[in-house]
Amino acid sequence: MKKIEKILVANRGEIALRVMRSAREMGIKTVAIYSEADRQALHVRYADEAVCVGPPASSASYLRGDVILEVCKNLGVDAIHPGYGFLSENAQFAKQVEEAGITFIGPSPEAIELMGSKLAAKAAVATYNIPMVPGTEGAITDVEEAKTIATQIGFPILIKASAGGGGKGMRVVERVEDFEEQMKLAVSEATSAFGDGSVFIEKYIGSPRHIEIQVLGDTHGNIVHLFERECSIQRRHQKVVEEAPSAVLTPELRDEMGRCAVNVAKACDYVGAGTVEFLLDENKNFYFLEMNTRLQVEHPVTEQITGLDLVKEQIKVAQGEPLSFRQEDLKIQGHALELRVYAEDPTNNFLPDIGKLVTYKLPQGLGVRVDDGFEEGMEIPIYYDPMIAKLVTFGKNREEAIEKMIRAIDEYHITGIETTLSFGRFVMQHEAFRSGNFDTKFIERYFKDPSVLKSSPAPEEEELAAVLAALFAGQAKKSAPQEAVAQTTPSGSGWRKNRLK
Ligand code: ADP
Ligand code: ADP
Ligand code: MG
Repeated sequence: MKKIEKILVANRGEIALRVMRSAREMGIKTVAIYSEADRQALHVRYADEAVCVGPPASSASYLRGDVILEVCKNLGVDAIHPGYGFLSENAQFAKQVEEAGITFIGPSPEAIELMGSKLAAKAAVATYNIPMVPGTEGAITDVEEAKTIATQIGFPILIKASAGGGGKGMRVVERVEDFEEQMKLAVSEATSAFGDGSVFIEKYIGSPRHIEIQVLGDTHGNIVHLFERECSIQRRHQKVVEEAPSAVLTPELRDEMGRCAVNVAKACDYVGAGTVEFLLDENKNFYFLEMNTRLQVEHPVTEQITGLDLVKEQIKVAQGEPLSFRQEDLKIQGHALELRVYAEDPTNNFLPDIGKLVTYKLPQGLGVRVDDGFEEGMEIPIYYDPMIAKLVTFGKNREEAIEKMIRAIDEYHITGIETTLSFGRFVMQHEAFRSGNFDTKFIERYFKDPSVLKSSPAPEEEELAAVLAALFAGQAKKSAPQEAVAQTTPSGSGWRKNRLK
């Protein structure tokens, strides 16, 4: 394979910029595509060339594979990086790219297709002895039969869309009486969201942690894993806070999960960067969930602890280079955290809160990294995912990474919209998070009263003392649950700047 000289990034926002930065360091020219809503976007200005591919709606612009291929031909592009979301897991597009003689920076269309179906993926890895959540092996169509199976598995169960992604198309069913209705809803949801109504049943694991393993394969048959990321802090089955390494994996368990992940990758001859997701239950049993055949949103935490640039590794592999390291060369250094900064209101069910970034001041300093795609004064378009930035901190250990995160959140100043920054601070200060004793139920369990975020309108230190005195005198006990007390306990001096606007 020949050296890549010009990459088109078929994406927008922070990930488009992040990919272009690595390309630029490698001396590779970059082409941006953009919709009419993104004319002023940073990725457009950063690229060497930029082409408008259509109106704002994704289906009319970022998802127009035909238009994108046309741009590639016109501009002499030799490779496409799809980022995440959009066309990144579209096997048909990957195939068209290949057929056009352009390098798709990602795995083969066959691997994308296989892993794009959760059911096909489970079937493919079955021969490798990978532990799986108990459930149906194939799609279920007959409601009565499904009900029988669900009863055998034991409630609660989860109905899942085989083609699902982004936390969508999942329904928890607690009781057999609700099964029929929920299954009908799940099928119709899956059909409208993914164009494929196939659903299956999984045992609903009560208090799992989401632990995933980053893998990397080359075209010479080498596959390594780059350790785990813990992504248990989720809303709507979607991640908000991620970290590496996990606070609970022992070296033995890490090795075992790593080996399983490499086997999953082997099952589809995986090339490039991919992620194998697992659930870990209270007894430290782990179960394969799915494989994401692309760069993951939370990949920076892995970069911080391994010292590797995953986008550069993707590009090198796509050029046909063998991996320059073996499994035994890889070591974990320090600890990294990521907070997804969404334009969402955590006090209103994390509903999107789109608008203008009236003030937008970034945190800085040692151990702080921000991957974003916006500047002060810009509007957040309503057409796309509301994530505006990823705030990443890196420290010598977990405690230091948390301290840095709190400090960075306090320096990050955003007005005009609500964001998940205040929620991130709540997490960082929470006893359960700090002790490492938490799971995917964190929000449900500890964030029942989102008004705790509003209850501290930037008091000065003296006011803080008064608030605490009142709390501990028991006056506020009735209205403030245990969690709220943990939240208002100061850690360091930064807390007074934790204002929402
Ligand atoms: P990650 O899986 O990288 O941790 P997300 O689950 O948030 O992160 O997904 C990454 C992006 O891809 C999001 O913008 C999400 O909306 C999008 N996405 C993931 N899977 C699908 C899918 N099957 N269909 C449409 N969008 C998807
Ligand atoms: P997606 O393709 O939407 O990312 P996943 O299968 O990766 O779907 O699941 C997303 C999240 O949903 C998981 O991180 C976990 O929190 C929850 N989840 C999925 N399957 C189960 C299960 N069987 N039991 C409990 N929670 C689950
Ligand atoms: Mg997933």
